[in-house]
Amino acid sequence: MRKGTAAVAVTAATVGAWSLFRTPPGRFKWQPRDPQAPEVALITGASSGIGAEYARQLAARGLDLVLVARRQERLAALAAELSAAHGVACKTIAADLAQEAGLAQVEAHIRTLDNLAVLVNNAGFGTVGRLVNADPARQQEMVALHVMAPMQLAQAALPGMTARKRGAIVNVSSIAAYVRMRGTVNYVATKAYLNAFSETLQIEQRGTGVYVQALCPGFTRTEFHATPDYAKFEPAQYPAFMWLQAGDVVRQSLDALGNGQVIFVPGALYRGLVALLRTPVLGSALMQMAALFG
Ligand code: NDP
Repeated sequence: MRKGTAAVAVTAATVGAWSLFRTPPGRFKWQPRDPQAPEVALITGASSGIGAEYARQLAARGLDLVLVARRQERLAALAAELSAAHGVACKTIAADLAQEAGLAQVEAHIRTLDNLAVLVNNAGFGTVGRLVNADPARQQEMVALHVMAPMQLAQAALPGMTARKRGAIVNVSSIAAYVRMRGTVNYVATKAYLNAFSETLQIEQRGTGVYVQALCPGFTRTEFHATPDYAKFEPAQYPAFMWLQAGDVVRQSLDALGNGQVIFVPGALYRGLVALLRTPVLGSALMQMAALFG
């Protein structure tokens, strides 16, 4: 075989194999609300930001909701707003998902649901500062919230979803999964876990009707940066075009469910950035340059 023909054959085989394994067959289909048997979405971290936006958009798509976070009064206000606006049933669970008892409570509730269509593992927070100086308890909370909670809640949801051959699990990750910067060790590492977890789970769930997504937003306007950790962080230092709106992030995420992109990066700017960071040699060179300033 001539060299050119061999190269074309190898490329075609690689692209073929890649698309076979990359694309789960079908797509998550949104169904009109069935008043007799409405579907349910459970959203963690629903008391503000991206999680509250998932609640709004999923209610608008006709799903009943289970809203989870620590601040009960916020959840209750959102539940009342969305029930009135969309006629959906909203249950609230005030739980700290970084603690075993809180996580067990939500896990147990999921196992009682026979109509859970969407699970959004969104609750999360960031810290600033090198691990050597960081509060160990807070770092352990981050690992519990970003790793153990999504894993255990997914495991609770999967038996029902696979039996019904229908379900979507969204794990809210971050473009931080692709970044290596000082002061963010566990944030970066836990978000990288969520990406690997989602990709591998989707491979396991191929053909079952269950779709998995790791949503990787860049800077998004929420309360994320309003904690004492980010006291020195000034959002205005970053140009407006770098800031995403939670509504756009969530709309793109829900529209993309099951489209073959398990890792989903909303917005052209951040899609380009992630592509650059994943480019062999160039990506790691850029990272090393960035680390000089971090
Ligand atoms: P917010 O601070 O606005 O929301 C965080 C949510 O998580 C709140 O509802 C909070 O509720 C909940 N939460 C935090 N800790 C716990 C806990 N221990 N148990 C239960 N719930 C908890 O930030 P975002 O909306 O921006 O963050 C949502 C996700 O998006 C996070 O996973 C974050 O890492 C990710 N992300 C955010 C980006 C951004 O720039 N904003 C960029 C990339 C990713 P409560 O305090 O009531 O418990």
